[in-house]
Amino acid sequence: MMSLLISSIKIISIIIILYTILPTLYYRIVKRKPTKRFKNKNSILLSFDDGPNEEYTNKLLNLLKRHNIKATFFVIASEAQKHPEVVQKILKEGHSLGLHSLEHKSASLKGYLYTKHDFENSMKIIKTFEDDILYYRPPWGVINLFTLYYLKKYNLELVLWSVMVGDWSKYTSVYDITNRILKRVRGGDVICLHDGRGSNCAPLRTIESLETVIPCLLESGFEFININEFY
Ligand SMILES: [Zn+2]
Repeated sequence: MMSLLISSIKIISIIIILYTILPTLYYRIVKRKPTKRFKNKNSILLSFDDGPNEEYTNKLLNLLKRHNIKATFFVIASEAQKHPEVVQKILKEGHSLGLHSLEHKSASLKGYLYTKHDFENSMKIIKTFEDDILYYRPPWGVINLFTLYYLKKYNLELVLWSVMVGDWSKYTSVYDITNRILKRVRGGDVICLHDGRGSNCAPLRTIESLETVIPCLLESGFEFININEFY
């Protein structure tokens, strides 16, 4: 009886490893940074996940406009449906749009039917804003084997990140966010921050930190480039 239980646990573990852990780890290593060589070796990509949010995204857009910087917004499709005017503003102001799932559920806990539902419905929503959606970032960077199938089907590039600073956490202060970004960023980096969700109004701390971070990075010679130049 005991040995049957142990064999079942082993089989389930192998399935989980093959289904979600291996593909996730593989892409985390391979897709951490784009391999492209840029004209300016200090080119970086600024990206935001988990929006759109009426308050946070609008504040962030104003800040980016002041510095004339373009970023990429990986939006949650169900939130985009609730706040269409914010998505339209993102596009109108020249930023790029990527997909960040339908409802921000982890692919590791989902099978074929949910993955299909997630991609089909989120693509339907996101295409009402922009027909040519090219980029996808999975929640928590986690994928499963069916994610790979749908990325291919919809011709989506998987975009992860190389700098993340825990800006979603209630324990991360404005000072922490500022310091971590300025210490970690190198040319070719993909910075991932958040303009939605997050505990205790976390995106407000992200935006406040960017008030300092953006001028510092510009002064240090970094150039914020469009995602189309990155991938
Ligand atoms: Zn997310």
